[in-house]
Amino acid sequence: MQTQILILGAGPAGYTAALYSALAGFKTTLLMGPMPGGQLILTHKVENFPGFMDISGPDLTDIFHEQAEQAGVRLVYETADQADVRSSPFRVHTTIGTVFQSKALIIATGATARWLHLPGEDKLIGHGVSVCATCDGIFHKGKPVAVIGSGNTAAYEALFLAQLCSLVYLIYPGETPVFDGIISEKIIKNQKIKTLSQTEVSAFVGEKRLEALIIYNKVSGQQETLSVSGAFEAVGQVPNTQLFINQLNIDINGYLVTDCETQMTSVPGVFACGDVQAPRFRQAIIAAGSGCRAALSAKHFLMQP
Ligand SMILES: Cc1cc2nc3c(=O)[nH]c(=O)nc-3n(C[C@H](O)[C@H](O)[C@H](O)COP(=O)(O)OP(=O)(O)OC[C@H]3O[C@@H](n4cnc5c(N)ncnc54)[C@H](O)[C@@H]3O)c2cc1C
Repeated sequence: MQTQILILGAGPAGYTAALYSALAGFKTTLLMGPMPGGQLILTHKVENFPGFMDISGPDLTDIFHEQAEQAGVRLVYETADQADVRSSPFRVHTTIGTVFQSKALIIATGATARWLHLPGEDKLIGHGVSVCATCDGIFHKGKPVAVIGSGNTAAYEALFLAQLCSLVYLIYPGETPVFDGIISEKIIKNQKIKTLSQTEVSAFVGEKRLEALIIYNKVSGQQETLSVSGAFEAVGQVPNTQLFINQLNIDINGYLVTDCETQMTSVPGVFACGDVQAPRFRQAIIAAGSGCRAALSAKHFLMQP
């Protein structure tokens, strides 16, 4: 199936790229993938997307969807399982056997947050259990929360939450965390952060909202209940770049490497936007902005003589 611009992924990055591409008059196809709407569908409240003071993630993505549809984007409920960007036109094969060909390809497959997969977690995601302090920290203003993780991301999340919350427990399984030196100092000096080393979370407790964590101290062997209003898991993200390994430049953490002006990857005509190429800041507005840039760059690329 031929299309002028093929976009993989229907999160804020993919929808924005699709909207700009279709409004510029290009035949645009958007593959929705395994999670139409992207990560935002996991959150019941988005307060930091300009233009929307108080909206749920699913409602916001419904608007993205409707706007893309009205602009004439072809929305296809399929998932790519193979891609070949070694020669043009680029070829993408889906799990049900459709083959798409295009001269410009925009990769917006996002990233998948790692979850701990503990008892009680599934039903409390979006109700106190989160993977994004920037997004959900505000809901716990003045209350105690926990951050689970031992890397720099966990440390930054804890420092951010300490500005809002009454107390932040920073829970990690090792004897010492692996924070960079300067962050370590800030954590130690911050009186609102209490580190719980050699400690593991074994369950999330709460009916409608998170109320507590069951934690286990590996040294004393003791189990206790820790009352918290929120728990932020900071145990890593996996960028969805598997289809492009050995074809595009990928950094050591698995993110696609792009030019920051054009969103171009290491192959001309192939662009990437959103979390799939964002090792540092992962927010919907940033994803949308980079989707816009990718579509404008794809347009320029296709219009070259
Ligand atoms: C719980 C939670 C709450 C959040 N809250 C906020 C918030 O309040 N404000 C904020 O700004 N940010 C928030 N974020 C972050 C924000 O959701 C992400 O930064 C943003 O969604 C990234 O957009 P994206 O389009 O790059 O990727 P994603 O949203 O990850 O979308 C990726 C898309 O790619 C598709 N895809 C994946 N693989 C394939 C494939 N093989 N073929 C085709 N398609 C594929 C998926 O189906 C999906 O549609 C939150 C994140 C989480 C997890």
